[in-house]
Amino acid sequence: MSHWQPESWRSKPILQQPTYEDKQHLKQVEDTLGGYPPLVFAAETRALYKQLGDVAEGNGFLLQGGDCAESFDEFNAPKIRDTFKVILQMAIVLTYAGRCPVTKVARMAGQYAKPRSGDFETIDGVSLPSYRGDIINSFEFTEASRKPDPQRMIEAYHRGASTLNLLRAFAQGGLADLHEVNRWNMAFVENNPLKDRYHDLASRIQESLEFMKVMGINSTNTPTLHETSLYTSHEALLLNYEQALTRVDTLTGNWYNCSAHMLWIGERTRQLDHAHLEFFRGIHNPIGVKVGPSMQEDELIQLIDALNPNNEAGRLTLITRMGADNLEQNLPKLLRRVKQEGRKVVWSSDPMHGNTFKASSGYKTRNFDAILREIQQFFAAHKAEGTHAGGIHLEMTGQHVTECTGGAYQISDDDLAQAYHTQCDPRLNADQVLEMAFLVADHLKN
Ligand code: PEP
Ligand code: MN
Repeated sequence: MSHWQPESWRSKPILQQPTYEDKQHLKQVEDTLGGYPPLVFAAETRALYKQLGDVAEGNGFLLQGGDCAESFDEFNAPKIRDTFKVILQMAIVLTYAGRCPVTKVARMAGQYAKPRSGDFETIDGVSLPSYRGDIINSFEFTEASRKPDPQRMIEAYHRGASTLNLLRAFAQGGLADLHEVNRWNMAFVENNPLKDRYHDLASRIQESLEFMKVMGINSTNTPTLHETSLYTSHEALLLNYEQALTRVDTLTGNWYNCSAHMLWIGERTRQLDHAHLEFFRGIHNPIGVKVGPSMQEDELIQLIDALNPNNEAGRLTLITRMGADNLEQNLPKLLRRVKQEGRKVVWSSDPMHGNTFKASSGYKTRNFDAILREIQQFFAAHKAEGTHAGGIHLEMTGQHVTECTGGAYQISDDDLAQAYHTQCDPRLNADQVLEMAFLVADHLKN
């Protein structure tokens, strides 16, 4: 295999990239970013790698979630805090029900680049370049806004750094205290229209925490009850940015992409001979790849071998996004083949991207029941094949948006207009995503 360098992706075919007009400006931005401090450290990344290694071996569960695309406009503390809180709330439910450690990976602090199905968007006969995420251009439908601007990479770096800073503070500064987190869960349950369905689990968690307190195990003397670890991740789509943040770790001499702990390759850019595969094969982070319904068994084994030639547990997470109607036909054969060939991977379910449709009201949406059905089928397929259902990957927010239909509050097509804020794909809101955790918990138990 040819010698890898952080820039070796540049000689390969590449999809889904912007065309920057001002090449000199681009180079200047890349050089500037190359001199900035890393956003995450290799030792933290290795800790995540190890945890995912346990998940790959069947011990543990990966909870990954956040916005489809983070936005520069909606960049504020309440938004970051609310998503962090709801991830913690879900994790406690899943940990308790599944009796297994939950690894929390936020889709935050860098999820700024979006793959698009077309290069252009046409509105009322006017055609402009597609919006590709705030790291590239702006959502506003004007010629100036849609022009890719390299300076936005610097902006994304600073916003990622601030987001991470706040997440680290929350994780260690008491917001992650388990007693507090379950109090929020109790409040969620009390107010939920389907209260009876979820009450039992939340109160059992509450009782366990109270029992521990009586036994003298409390937040003051037990840091694990008071603090947590939260990792960050995003789709490493814009390789100019990702390369600039890729550094040699002085301890091991290995290359790490220090823009996030975990990075993944999207469904549209995972071609074996293309640039994204080339870039990913050289970084030592834990990585993910999206796996859609067109994936065939042989291709998947080739992809695994290209990205994880030493078959290390924790290196590779396969994030399947089949669609509730396609999963039964497409997933079991992949599970069987990977097991047969002894490849160590984490299998995670993205139940969002295969279940998107246009509502009668014109909004792009997803339905709660279809999302849940894909997760249920994911668990059922793993049970049948004797493999480990290792995680879920959700597009979600801690805010009270109306972007996905269904759930206990029965959001309808007509309700979508009330609080449809996403710049890209529809997200589960705080109530829907927590409800989803309570329902997934039933599967972890079995
Ligand atoms: C995404 O995760 O936002 C995404 C675009 O997914 P996929 O690559 O699976 O289509
Ligand atoms: Mn998306």
